[in-house]
Amino acid sequence: MLKVQALSKSYDSDNGSVKVIEQLDFEVARGEFVCIVGPSGAGKSTLLRCLSGLHPASGGSVVLDGKVVDAPPPQMAVVFQDYSRSLLPWLTVAANVELPLKQRIKSKPDRQAAVRRSLQAVGLVAATGMYPWQLSGGMQQRVAIARALACEPQVLVMDEPFASVDAQTRAELEDLVHELRRDLGITVLVVTHDIDESVYLGDRVIVLTHRPCRIRELIEVDLPHPRDQIITKQLPEFARLRARIADEIRKAVAGHAH
Ligand code: ADP
Repeated sequence: MLKVQALSKSYDSDNGSVKVIEQLDFEVARGEFVCIVGPSGAGKSTLLRCLSGLHPASGGSVVLDGKVVDAPPPQMAVVFQDYSRSLLPWLTVAANVELPLKQRIKSKPDRQAAVRRSLQAVGLVAATGMYPWQLSGGMQQRVAIARALACEPQVLVMDEPFASVDAQTRAELEDLVHELRRDLGITVLVVTHDIDESVYLGDRVIVLTHRPCRIRELIEVDLPHPRDQIITKQLPEFARLRARIADEIRKAVAGHAH
């Protein structure tokens, strides 16, 4: 469904050009859940911005459903880490979720039905009339996810989506995203710096090298579904995968230092 072919990205500044991504190739199948991990500053956020058409590639291409991505594709939705800045404080929860639909769905009742459906999907119907600042961090991030889902995307892309919430909320949001993938059949790509999270969420984990980032390893996660925060994390295979990924990241950092 998504093909990344020889993708390269450099940022130009007065001090010259910084190469962040070099010749990256990978594919994501329809309905797959892929996590991307790598050393800090490797270029993970840059990769997501290129995938979602927010930044132009310097070389190579991203192809979604056979079409080259050169602008944000309508069938893709992006959720960023910083939910407190992504929601508009003067709009209610429902109005925040409705905002990106105004272009797409002209009929107001149809729009409101779509808002209701996506708030229901993230368990937030009771907060419909509240304002973002009246909600906890985890609830605000649910609103951001509902807003992304309201457009009925085929691909959900998330950049460190749970980095700013406490551990309990993080676990709940991880399980929510698993349920959404299962119920809606969407393809999900998540960037995370959390190795446990990548194993718990993913069907596959892509480990990146240090900048300029390339693929260091593609690791299949063959853990049974539905996953459970306690049972899955106690499986010997979970421990083996997390140790392997930690080791790969350590080698990526060490390789860069030498
Ligand atoms: P990660 O998400 O893996 O921590 P980023 O993609 O945020 O990495 O950043 C990778 C590198 O690219 C960093 O050195 C960062 O300073 C640089 N960078 C990121 N965004 C920009 C930008 N808009 N302009 C110039 N340099 C950038």
